Amino acid sequence: MAKADCPLCGGTGWISTQQDGFSAAHRCECVAETRLEEIEERAQIPRNYRNASFDTFLATDGKTLRDAMVLIKGYANEYPLGKKPGLLLAGPPGTGKTHLAVAALRQLMARGFEGAFFDYQNLLERIYAGYSEALGTSNREAYRVALETEILLLDDLGAHRINEWVEDTVTSVITYRYNHQKPLIATTNLPDPDYGGVDNKERITLQDRIGARARSRLFEMCTVVRMWGAADYRIKAAAPVRY
Ligand SMILES: [Zn+2]
Repeated sequence: MAKADCPLCGGTGWISTQQDGFSAAHRCECVAETRLEEIEERAQIPRNYRNASFDTFLATDGKTLRDAMVLIKGYANEYPLGKKPGLLLAGPPGTGKTHLAVAALRQLMARGFEGAFFDYQNLLERIYAGYSEALGTSNREAYRVALETEILLLDDLGAHRINEWVEDTVTSVITYRYNHQKPLIATTNLPDPDYGGVDNKERITLQDRIGARARSRLFEMCTVVRMWGAADYRIKAAAPVRY
């Protein structure tokens, strides 16, 4: 789609040029701009993160977050050529995980990939509601988008009390994406023995909230970005859990 009020093409989406006595039609640049706007619109990024980018990220604590940003930015520029197709941003609340995850998604969208943002808790509620016949198709659609979208951003992974249904659902989403080689960018506040943040035995871990199978798949498909202040963010993937 071209921009209706585009001064370059007058809204046709085409610009004609003359070369060697022949005229040729070229796509106007407004077509690509409009496509990016449409991709961003479909991604459903919440309003307060809609303009999040690496340029607008303020790494207030200095090195720790700057290092995290470099890693995330590298992923967004290299995908799909990186080591792993996904990213897991793990750290305490207030470290800018969502901002950086959205910045990565937007960078990928600017490169032509499509994606969708989902708040984990909200996604689970919508999937659950989708089972009810009385409710509209938008909730079932949410489930389909979470499975099929090219790049899924799952914000605040594990922010829901676990039960059998939650465990099965999050496992099915992550496993489906893993099996179809579709990347996942996730953020979480929850600690894990493998990447840190576990300061005492009482603390609820990521595995407590999403289950062992989902955690295992997640670690296989994601590079972990540690934002707990340690110098080394990369951890090696956990050994897959076999059943
Ligand atoms: Zn134009």
